[in-house]
Amino acid sequence: MDSVLSPLDVVKRGAPEGPVAIARPHRVAAAAGWFQANFPGDIFYAVKANPSPWVLDALWAAGVRAFDVASENEVALVADRFPDAKLAFMHPVKSRRAIARAYHDYGVRAFALDCEAELDKILAETGAARDLTLMVRLAVSNDGASLPLANKFGASSLEAPELLRRARAATEEEMGISFHVGSQCMRPLAYRAAMMDANRAIVKAGIVADIVNVGGGFPAIYPGMQPPEMSAYVHEIKTAFEEMFVTENARLWAEPGRALVAEAGSILTRVELRKGDALYLNDGAYGNLFDAAHVKWPFPVKLMRASRAKAAPFRFYGPTCDSIDAAQGPFMLPADIAEGDHIEIGMLGAYGVAMGTRFNGFGETELVVSKDAPFPSMFEERPESKESAAEQANVVDLSKRQRRPRRTK
Ligand SMILES: *Cc1c(COP(=O)(O)O)cnc(C)c1O
Repeated sequence: MDSVLSPLDVVKRGAPEGPVAIARPHRVAAAAGWFQANFPGDIFYAVKANPSPWVLDALWAAGVRAFDVASENEVALVADRFPDAKLAFMHPVKSRRAIARAYHDYGVRAFALDCEAELDKILAETGAARDLTLMVRLAVSNDGASLPLANKFGASSLEAPELLRRARAATEEEMGISFHVGSQCMRPLAYRAAMMDANRAIVKAGIVADIVNVGGGFPAIYPGMQPPEMSAYVHEIKTAFEEMFVTENARLWAEPGRALVAEAGSILTRVELRKGDALYLNDGAYGNLFDAAHVKWPFPVKLMRASRAKAAPFRFYGPTCDSIDAAQGPFMLPADIAEGDHIEIGMLGAYGVAMGTRFNGFGETELVVSKDAPFPSMFEERPESKESAAEQANVVDLSKRQRRPRRTK
């Protein structure tokens, strides 16, 4: 893992039997830097998006000090690595032991809840602590999201006012309101709409909130999904916040997951067999391609050698015997792709490398750090739609190898 190689170097060196995870910590740093410079509030990284040590270290090095954790394991993972980190336990349903350990052993003070029963649990397990930061999670529309999360959590607009009043009364410290507009939210206005819903609940409750937590949902660029500029999201949040009934010194929180890490991870996989338009790979749904298979998410692909062949649509099959270990794509790759070829599957830094299960004896993944940046980024000037010829054919751009990037550090 201390090796710094490009994916092409890995292929040339002789890639191992299993898939290789390509880590790009500099992309995490770029995303974290953007949010810290442009989001007018506190950034809590949603650890579930990718709990890998190299991700946590890259965020910490970039100055991120707050983390949204969802389980006792995530609390311990972050607290042991960064004793000074600020943790917010934002899962609306927690086990009693997880609440107690988080509060008493790890110093967690911020807890989310979306019903009275969960508030009762939090108060009971913390000994009715008066120093809690209680965050009431509101159910909001997920219409703008490519991956809606709405029907599982959140107090309804009818339930929220009484819950907000109870949370306000239960703590001498801060309380706030939170929501999640759904993952990969393509509409900046979804944040404004959710904040206006939150505002109505606050006004109805007759309380003031100290914190407005706009959650996650900030998007990344995938094939066929070109979100608006990230600054448009921040603009909507900023202006909506100014219209809310909150204390004079109220603060904004955000919990980006995907947006901080999606660009930072790829998988280098090998074609074990080709049957027509079906490519059998050494990685799949039980490894690092869970979302490609189950969520039918479109990931960018690149053939790791030069090819002049026209692009053609392919399907992927994973290495296990399970028939759901398949991703229909279609993935556009040069028509002459063959057994032994390597493919880089990009934008897997969020909800990808975290998913490996070892089912059927597959799922071991070697990790290599790379300093290149072959896929489009939300945090850089976006290329005009005029893509390079190499990008259109989805092959690695060998011409860039002549102008090797200067080694930094
Ligand atoms: C998953 C989750 C996030 C991160 O969502 P992204 O869409 O990855 O940004 C943030 N907050 C909570 C409470 C979550 O459950």
